[in-house]
Amino acid sequence: MGNDTSIAAAAAMAANYTLFETALPPLPEYTLEPQGDLLSWISDFWLSLVVPVVVYWILSLTFHAIDVADIFPQYRLHTPDEITKRNHATRYEVARDVILQQAIQVATGAVLALTEPPEMTGKVDYDIAVWATRIRLAQRALPTILGTLGLNTTAISKNLADSYPILAGAVAGGYYPFLTSATAEPVFAGWELKLAAAIYHILVPGVQFLVAIIILDTWQYFLHRLMHVNKWLYVHFHSRHHRLYVPYAYGALYNHPFEGFLLDTVGASLAFKATFMSLRQGIWFWSFSTIKTVDDHCGYSFPWDPLQLITSNNAAYHDIHHQHWGIKTNFAQPFFTFWDTLLNTKYTGTRSNKPSAFRKEADIAANKAAQAAEKDN
Ligand SMILES: [Zn+2]
Ligand SMILES: [Zn+2]
Repeated sequence: MGNDTSIAAAAAMAANYTLFETALPPLPEYTLEPQGDLLSWISDFWLSLVVPVVVYWILSLTFHAIDVADIFPQYRLHTPDEITKRNHATRYEVARDVILQQAIQVATGAVLALTEPPEMTGKVDYDIAVWATRIRLAQRALPTILGTLGLNTTAISKNLADSYPILAGAVAGGYYPFLTSATAEPVFAGWELKLAAAIYHILVPGVQFLVAIIILDTWQYFLHRLMHVNKWLYVHFHSRHHRLYVPYAYGALYNHPFEGFLLDTVGASLAFKATFMSLRQGIWFWSFSTIKTVDDHCGYSFPWDPLQLITSNNAAYHDIHHQHWGIKTNFAQPFFTFWDTLLNTKYTGTRSNKPSAFRKEADIAANKAAQAAEKDN
């Protein structure tokens, strides 16, 4: 763009703007171009399919190494003995079914990525300017709002005009007649553009992630609970995941393939589509959900694991659901516990799954045994 006619049009518009002090800064022109790939050696399409799988195995095999080498016995939720004795699936069966679920996940992800419109770039400045325009228009309400508080914004603005002209302009309702470009067009104040950029780069993606998390949590809670309420569904599908009474990291996606598809793959895809994420945002979201579910099954309650600290839905919480005495509680997964709280399905028993409590119990038992042995002597 940027030919002679558009320059002439811009000049004509600029001339008009000077006539109205309420004129808004013009939006920049933009040219859309297809977005290049994030990495030179792999397309974004393949990246979106591969990263969640790679992340799953890197993280879960790290936990596996910690388990096998027994590096943190003090943080274990169960003894290594329990893993072999109480689980009703072999490690081979678990790994095999996880790989099958991931194959289905990759195939679904491919369909999803192919139905996305091609990613374009070149519109960032324009989109930020749109937010800046909204910020400018929101300021128009300030005199009325402050007026209801008994403040005379015209007087305040006049007082501020010399020392704080920008603040005076905002208080007056977003009028900055002194801010103009070289061609005398109105322009945005620096703070308006900074705030607009923060909304565009941080707030909007943050809200998308939060809404996606809520959608996935909601989807999983109700289907998971249904799987426990309906005996047929439990026996045919969900009971497979519960063969692991003592969960370990790479057993996180050990499911009947149909259940894995319905709860994990469809749930995460729905959350992605409903929040209009870009494919790159999707890579983050799917990888994060994967990391969270692996962490929830890791078998350890670490005091320094950030994922176990940000929400009370963590490995200890989900471990209760894997026990025969807690299986009818703690359905919420993978991020928050609000559905369990709202619908009264949170475990309220006395059994703590914190390793500190385990150790205390073990200490008490050891003391009792020692005392009994002393008496016998
Ligand atoms: Zn369950
Ligand atoms: Zn589980």
